[in-house]
Amino acid sequence: EPGSRTVSGACFSRVQPQPLVNPTFVAVSGPALALLGLDDKEIFHDLLGPEYLSGSKVLPGSEPAAHCYCGHQFGLFAGQLGDGAVCYLGEVEAPADQLGSMQRDNPCGRWEIQVKGAGVTPYSRESDGRKVLRSSIREFLCSEAMAALGIPTTRAASLVTSDLYVNRDPLNNGRRRPERCSVVLRIAPSFIRFGSFEIFQSRDEFSGRQGPSPGRHDIRAQLVDYVIDTFYPDIQRCHGNRKERNTAFFKEVTVRTARLVAQWQCVGFCHGVLNTDNMSILGLTVDYGPFGFIDRFDPEFVCNASDRRGRYSYQAQPSVCRWNLARLAEALGSELHASQAGAILDEFMPLYETLYLANMRRKLGLLRRKEPEDQELVSELLQLMHNTGADFTNTFRLLSGVSCPVVGEGKGATGGPVVDLLLEQCVSLEELKRFGEKSYKDNLELAMVLSMAQTNPAMFGLVADRPEVAHQLEKMGRLKELLSTNQDELRAKQREDWLRWISQYRKRLVKECDGAREVCTIEEERIRVMDSTNPRVVLRNYIAQNAIQAAENGDFSEVRRVLKVLENPYCAYPESELPGGPKTFGERYQKGMEK
Ligand code: AMP
Ligand code: MG
Ligand code: MG
Repeated sequence: EPGSRTVSGACFSRVQPQPLVNPTFVAVSGPALALLGLDDKEIFHDLLGPEYLSGSKVLPGSEPAAHCYCGHQFGLFAGQLGDGAVCYLGEVEAPADQLGSMQRDNPCGRWEIQVKGAGVTPYSRESDGRKVLRSSIREFLCSEAMAALGIPTTRAASLVTSDLYVNRDPLNNGRRRPERCSVVLRIAPSFIRFGSFEIFQSRDEFSGRQGPSPGRHDIRAQLVDYVIDTFYPDIQRCHGNRKERNTAFFKEVTVRTARLVAQWQCVGFCHGVLNTDNMSILGLTVDYGPFGFIDRFDPEFVCNASDRRGRYSYQAQPSVCRWNLARLAEALGSELHASQAGAILDEFMPLYETLYLANMRRKLGLLRRKEPEDQELVSELLQLMHNTGADFTNTFRLLSGVSCPVVGEGKGATGGPVVDLLLEQCVSLEELKRFGEKSYKDNLELAMVLSMAQTNPAMFGLVADRPEVAHQLEKMGRLKELLSTNQDELRAKQREDWLRWISQYRKRLVKECDGAREVCTIEEERIRVMDSTNPRVVLRNYIAQNAIQAAENGDFSEVRRVLKVLENPYCAYPESELPGGPKTFGERYQKGMEK
């Protein structure tokens, strides 16, 4: 029954997507539609297109369903979750001409399609199963942006809005206002998650049944068989012994997850809600909610406003992924050799570090050698970016402008001009002040406790030991120090620090040319790789926010324009062709707050 809370003994429920009123396209993604063998231009002009792609009409033969899964949310087992706003429509065979190139990404040769925001399901709990323009635009644009960046992700083929309204209570806004129901058509080989395996742990209704109903471990075994056979055919082929096969599968999921999170870190992507139900069994980025790309670099960056403790901060993502894999291993239980699963988990962080460093070497154009100092070069760069308030994306993009000393002492030789550009995109003192004020306000509650505590030493003793309090005190202290520094002095110091790092970097570039004759070719290759690894543009909050605002006012052109730009993130766009919006950190910060 739609809207009810617990569905016994089921991995899915049959549902019907609920029609929108007057569905219309906001945008479609040509590359994503092409996966299904559809042509974006035809679809866009087809009057029935938005009906079918939003689930308002269902194709003959489709058997829509909502998937039941569980999950650990913010560290705690949450019991049954499931597709509360998503409806599975079926699977589409990939066009024959794509099968060859799909072997690695999607060996099963077909795509699962879903509509997100198509109304209530048995898993909707108190909510209505609808999505609004804001959340749909963010999911649509970011899915396609990640794909274009080469990061494994579920795809978004179309974004449809309608004249059906729901009331939402947006964060930071307080006002309730009617918003247009909108639907994203999502595509992936499969949307099965870690949480899909967690339902077998908790539920009595799967166990102990006699007769025609299989026991829960039988269903779990069926799901494991299905996933391996369908999506990991190489593993299926190579292992005769079932437990060994499953262990090899768990290892492969671990590798893919490590690879994924290494890519996130290297592009400054923060997922925001890394619960086990948002972890793909195929190592895809799934469920775009309050995600954020870091601009001013801060390892403690938290993009989810409700994540007060920073459980899902940027720097926590790798260890959170490992934690989630441990929950998956538990859910697989006797399907795995427990000791082997433990050993695989133990390898996760070293594996992640290796993959991360490999990615970072490419970002820095260190392609020919691995030097022991590389790790330090990377961590010093990040520390410097943090200290100077540098923009993550822009900094990496600018670094291909630093020249290798061996090639020539021509332009950019000392790094001076690049430093000017780097400094330009660091946060100025003025902006820091504004940010500082905001940050003080954010911490008002804590500040009050602290000031009370300071007049009462006994109480201070109680709170000062708490790590988050000590940490906040230190941060506020640093901020105060910064705010009392003179602007010119600050800039001079920042310049000095950047010049020092760039001189280290250039020394390292010399090693790339060691023993080589074709130094110019090496330099060209370095610049080419850097400029195709460090994006010129990512989906910053203010870019999404601008497109959302225009779309809410009935103008969809900005969504389409942003999509086109994000489809080619490595293109050398001039500033004027990038999506408009506030360019300074302070303005961007304000915009981000309106999200
Ligand atoms: P999330 O935090 O987005 O991963 O969602 C957690 C749970 O809430 C999942 O079971 C979702 O299906 C469900 N959910 C999210 N949004 C809605 C909505 N608008 N209506 C009903 N259920 C929802
Ligand atoms: Mg989710
Ligand atoms: Mg969600």
